[in-house]
Amino acid sequence: MIQNNRCLNFNHGRINAPVHACPMCGEVVNGDISIKNCSEDEHAERRKDRNKYCIDCGNQLI
Ligand SMILES: [Zn+2]
Ligand SMILES: [Zn+2]
Repeated sequence: MIQNNRCLNFNHGRINAPVHACPMCGEVVNGDISIKNCSEDEHAERRKDRNKYCIDCGNQLI
């Protein structure tokens, strides 16, 4: 498990986070949600949300 330096995203404090990965650090916050096979179009949408990481697959967007 990778330790992130004080990521403040609210998903870390949740027991059942609604997303697979944190949009700010990419760390898995809910391993029960399976990794999605995202398309480039979906990642383009994520970038518009100013997310640094994809919440569905954890890949870095920027
Ligand atoms: Zn985070
Ligand atoms: Zn993705």
